[in-house]
Amino acid sequence: MPEHIANPSRTAAVLKRHGFTFKKSLGQNFLTNPTILQNIVDAASLTQADDVIEVGPGIGALTQFIAENANHVLALEVDGRLLPVLAETLDGYLNVEVVLEDVLKADLPKLVAEHFDGKHNLKVVANLPYYITTPILTHLMNSQLPFTSLTVMMQKEVADRLTAKPNSKDYGSLTIAIQQQMDVQVAFEVKRTNFVPAPNVDSAIVTLTRRAEPLITVNNQASFDKLTRGAFAARRKTLWNNLVNLYGKANRDALKQALETADIDAKVRAEDLSIAEFGRLSDALDAAGF
Ligand code: SAM
Repeated sequence: MPEHIANPSRTAAVLKRHGFTFKKSLGQNFLTNPTILQNIVDAASLTQADDVIEVGPGIGALTQFIAENANHVLALEVDGRLLPVLAETLDGYLNVEVVLEDVLKADLPKLVAEHFDGKHNLKVVANLPYYITTPILTHLMNSQLPFTSLTVMMQKEVADRLTAKPNSKDYGSLTIAIQQQMDVQVAFEVKRTNFVPAPNVDSAIVTLTRRAEPLITVNNQASFDKLTRGAFAARRKTLWNNLVNLYGKANRDALKQALETADIDAKVRAEDLSIAEFGRLSDALDAAGF
């Protein structure tokens, strides 16, 4: 087995050998603690039955651990300067492919069809670039790929939003979009000292596991997504004000009627509604032709 690069001195040596300088704008904070890396692949419960997409392999520290525990790994890296580094650090890992791709622009279903055999579970394991954590999660979910789980490192603040409950400041449309499909757990927290360079926030490993059935099913998913985003557009305003902004003043009577049908008080704020209540309201609005 090739040598793990994840410790501070080996990482420094690899970076030096390749004259690599970090790009802060690409969220380049590399993990240097092998215990954390092992804990990440353990949290993902990787086996030979799993094919894995990794977003942002960096110099390959996490990729090595994933490759040793899964069937096949496809790593998407946007920074072309890392390709020669990865060619060295992943030399000998025959089940890894690295592609030069911006994950947000990538046609993920096409990549999956090209690189995987379709006979394995599809998982995501990644230490995400924090400047685009939310867009990446949204892009992964919108891809409609049948990921059985995502095990991802992110800034604690986003982890708090993903795991939030109603009546809290962190609860919002992202919480709802994710929790509708996925069971979300914080596996463990990670101090900034485990990275080089150290990010200026603490981090958490979050596991998102697909629910056997969505938490709620609605008649029109696109209308539901529009409602949940619009309801939180101005968090401090009432649900009523946000709904009027979203659907237009001319529709006030029909809106009142839909709220009554769904048995929801217009004076509450969006953060007071459970996901099931949003579902009820969405179906009532849908039935009223919104
Ligand atoms: N996986 C490595 C580790 O754990 O040490 C590096 C993680 S680092 C936090 C994030 C990585 O994502 C960097 O390698 C960065 O170049 C890459 N990256 C940033 N933006 C990206 C994008 N839009 N698409 C793909 N990779 C991206």
